[in-house]
Amino acid sequence: MTLLDRNPDAPQVWQDEMAVTNRYTYGVAGERFFRTIKEEGRILGTHCTTCDHTYVPAAIFCERCMDKLDEWVDVGITGELVTFTHLYVNYDGSYRQEPITVAFVKLGDGGIIHRLIFSDSEEVSIGMQTKAIFKPADEREGSILDIAHFELVQT
Ligand SMILES: [Zn+2]
Repeated sequence: MTLLDRNPDAPQVWQDEMAVTNRYTYGVAGERFFRTIKEEGRILGTHCTTCDHTYVPAAIFCERCMDKLDEWVDVGITGELVTFTHLYVNYDGSYRQEPITVAFVKLGDGGIIHRLIFSDSEEVSIGMQTKAIFKPADEREGSILDIAHFELVQT
């Protein structure tokens, strides 16, 4: 018997605010992953030799075989555009005058979701090569936003 069975007049939704404080930690793999982006402008993954799978972002354990991963590999800063979408709404629900484009870029056997910037003259399509553009070194803070955006690689 549900609450509504017992009391059909019971409210089904409560609208209010709840203060939540939390601290997100990168963990062992994430710390090295983001530190390398910040300090070296490189993107690292971890490789599972058992599964021949390279995790990006780096992971400390293989989610397939649960082996501990300690083989770090530089996966480069270019990757294939797997998919993308144009966002016309901001996080606060307001509408944008101009859309921004967010893409999933394959790096290693994983990838990164990030902003894709391209010019009006460029045609974007799945399968194109993209390149990470980093913020200047003195502006990096150790987050995914140290990658300013991705852009299309001209061929
Ligand atoms: Zn594995």
